[in-house]
Amino acid sequence: MPKYFLDNCLLKSYKLLILKMVPGAGLEPAQYYYRGILSPLRLPISPPGQLCGIVPPCPAFQNQNQTLFSQAITNMIIEQIWTGNAYRNFNYLIACPETGEAMAIDPLDHKKCLATAKANGWQITQVLNTHEHLDHTGGNKKVIAATGAKLLAHANAKDSIPGIDRGLMAGDSIKIGNTVEMEVLDTPGHTMSHVCLLSHTETPALFCGDTLFNAGAGNCHNGGHPEELYDTFANQLAQLSDDTLIYPGHDYISNNLEFTLDREPDNEQAGLLLSEIRDQDPDKALVSTLGLEKEINTFFRLRSPSVIAALREAFPDLPGQPDPRTVFLKLRELRNTW
Ligand SMILES: [Zn+2]
Ligand SMILES: [Zn+2]
Repeated sequence: MPKYFLDNCLLKSYKLLILKMVPGAGLEPAQYYYRGILSPLRLPISPPGQLCGIVPPCPAFQNQNQTLFSQAITNMIIEQIWTGNAYRNFNYLIACPETGEAMAIDPLDHKKCLATAKANGWQITQVLNTHEHLDHTGGNKKVIAATGAKLLAHANAKDSIPGIDRGLMAGDSIKIGNTVEMEVLDTPGHTMSHVCLLSHTETPALFCGDTLFNAGAGNCHNGGHPEELYDTFANQLAQLSDDTLIYPGHDYISNNLEFTLDREPDNEQAGLLLSEIRDQDPDKALVSTLGLEKEINTFFRLRSPSVIAALREAFPDLPGQPDPRTVFLKLRELRNTW
């Protein structure tokens, strides 16, 4: 089995361990993949330069696939913060490793967000809300009072989120410190003033609020529309590169995988993933990729014969060859009561 050492450029978020292979071809920085899934779960945390573990055999390492080993995010630090609340929210801090400037995304758990920034020596200069729901905006006041940060949100949320300093539109660029640049995606559906952020990094990262979840899609009960959610999925999210790292606003993965398997009992990868993450510690949650989502997220699997056949059991009037939009809308409808 190969041995791995933590590289000196270890990122503070251990979701993105940068490993150095010993011995290896060129000692390239590498992320640890397990069964093709970005997964630090099986490695203990060690100081830089120390042996961090013996890696179990996995297909990704056996192939020594260059595309897997060449990926790294070196100019952006991502801290995923598990709130442990009933809604299962994830908050995020995104920091510039050079200046320590940070942006807090949906910092509901303001205490944890402020404590994490302090522990890392970061200054929160911006707060961003992906959308207007209270479980995303509820920490704004406390974080801004403590830091003087500017508040960013969708331009159309000006009446639903108090105190916006910068209204965002599609294509806007958000800079954090010297090294971090994020692109704003206008992603209606869950609500009509929802943004996702896409990092401009070698391996892109998507902060997707309540639009896309691991193995699921946001609901449209509180100010959203399923038609627009479909357009967002089909025309924006599905077009991103498969290596895009997915950082959603909630930890719903177990339940969502159950929904996938209920629709598509023959989805082996969903079954395997469920058995792996069922007891995961949300403090060390698996970070999926868009490529993985396309395998295990029903809302990306709109042409799957299994999905369509199972859907027909719930909706007998489904046409013979339903188009992807129809399948998406029916899946969303089914998920509302599932
Ligand atoms: Zn929401
Ligand atoms: Zn939410």
